[in-house]
Amino acid sequence: MLFVTNDRCVEHTAGEMHPESPQRLRAVFAALDRADLREAVTLVEAPKAPLELLAGVHTQDLVDMIQAVSARGGGRIDMDTVVAPASFDAARYAAGAGLESIERLGRGEADTAFCAVRPPGHHATKAESMGFCLFNNVAVAATALADAGERVLIVDYDAHHGNGTQDIFYDDPRVLFVSFHQWPCYPGTGRIDESGRGNGTGTTINVPLPPGTTGDVYNQAWDRHVAPHVDAFEPTWVLISAGFDAHQADPITDMGLTAGDYALLTSRILEIAPAGRRVVFLEGGYDLTALTESAAAVMATIVGQSFDTERPTNGGPGVEIIDKAIDHFGTLS
Ligand SMILES: [Zn+2]
Repeated sequence: MLFVTNDRCVEHTAGEMHPESPQRLRAVFAALDRADLREAVTLVEAPKAPLELLAGVHTQDLVDMIQAVSARGGGRIDMDTVVAPASFDAARYAAGAGLESIERLGRGEADTAFCAVRPPGHHATKAESMGFCLFNNVAVAATALADAGERVLIVDYDAHHGNGTQDIFYDDPRVLFVSFHQWPCYPGTGRIDESGRGNGTGTTINVPLPPGTTGDVYNQAWDRHVAPHVDAFEPTWVLISAGFDAHQADPITDMGLTAGDYALLTSRILEIAPAGRRVVFLEGGYDLTALTESAAAVMATIVGQSFDTERPTNGGPGVEIIDKAIDHFGTLS
């Protein structure tokens, strides 16, 4: 496994009390020791994403605006989203990690890449940075792959809806976007009936789940609802927006997962794509201990190393959502 990161990603700061802190990246680095993974992974330094690729996913105006705000010493984009002097570079390295992963995996250097980066990306839409996110890291990688003729599955299990990723690929049939998220919750999108538009109808799958949802419900949603659509789509690459804020200890959401659930769910998603075509992107996750434990469990699973962690959960609410989602997709065809 490639562990792709850049020290400059630590330099993006959104303010002392902000949950999306530089400590989060240190918590993910600590996961390498927690699961004894130093021998099993190759550390890779992420390069900056080329500006023309960022402007191919976002608007030129957005890229120029983030650069200008960084250059003049920083500023606030919205209530939650801050640009610091180092943020433009940090965001370019964060997006560059996915591109570097694709290139190295394409050369056969590893089976899977884990991008330990921040700022996160999945709330950044085509024209707008929001929700702690500046550029959409997973979308930059997915666009590069789709433009090279690949069929890309993105699975987003962050507790918040991946509205930015949905926005960028909403009418794009080359990318199948699946999001599991808490409902209701920020940013307020991600209803079952948001399922794509035009040629992309049916290639957005939202699974909005109630607070307290446990791992068994995620697995059942995957098996009964998502997996048949994934099989029909026949993805050649799988990208995961790995947000660890659906962990039951997370301070800003209310979901019921443990590190053991994250490991299980990740292995089921990754087995869809052949080795060498799998990239995992860090998104949210704001309890530092849970972040270390969950990232450790996921990375241990990826490299096939045993790891004694929190047990998977079951018995929570949300099963009825699965049937509603299946019914909605039945009306599309
Ligand atoms: Zn989140």
